[in-house]
Amino acid sequence: MREKNRSFGIELAPVQQKENLENVVAMLNDQPSRQRDWRGKTYLYTFDQEDVTKLRRWVRSWQKANASVETVSALRALAKELSKEDRSELERFLEGVRVFMLPNGTLAIEDHIPRGRGQRYNLAAIEFTRLLRNPRRIFLAGPCLSCERWYIRKYIKEKPGSSRYCSNRCKGNFRKAKRRNATKAKLLEEIRKAISRYKQLPTNHRYRENGWAAFVTEATRTTKKYLTQAINRGELVPPKD
Ligand SMILES: [Zn+2]
Repeated sequence: MREKNRSFGIELAPVQQKENLENVVAMLNDQPSRQRDWRGKTYLYTFDQEDVTKLRRWVRSWQKANASVETVSALRALAKELSKEDRSELERFLEGVRVFMLPNGTLAIEDHIPRGRGQRYNLAAIEFTRLLRNPRRIFLAGPCLSCERWYIRKYIKEKPGSSRYCSNRCKGNFRKAKRRNATKAKLLEEIRKAISRYKQLPTNHRYRENGWAAFVTEATRTTKKYLTQAINRGELVPPKD
């Protein structure tokens, strides 16, 4: 998967467009498969979970900014949606991307070789910036309101709302999904409010509260496990303690 994309044009070639969409969806949906070994249970993921969490966060920002249609204002909105840390990480990554001209005169990009001090192979940044250059990015959709998986839409011209489900089967479960999503949205909103209350506390007060997670679980009756899961899904950005 990595080696195939040695170089490609400014706009992804058709085969790379498909590959990029598939890679992005695979990363966004990465779930552990449970394996038994001599210690008991282990959970195996396909991708580095740091990459996965970042990609989920960036794709959610991209959706929020409505940047699947590439306009200057959409990209500006995307830059605004990203946190300062995420924005500077992507900027640092883009500085290392090399554009060059092939013998036939077309432009090519090399984006998978880490350049600069402390840079690592950054799969999240590679796939995300490719997505921004992917003319088929509008087909990326999710998470499905019912099964919560990301998916590739088959058609763009759909009845409004119909693309919120990955399949007809999931669409059939919409009532149940709707109720669950309303509850979840409410809880996330409460958590976000609690986080911003926490951020407004003076530093010595924060210390007494045993960190933001303890503060938030106290204030919203959620659990630390739920907070971790929401962060991993890219739904929450944890404050820096
Ligand atoms: Zn579904």
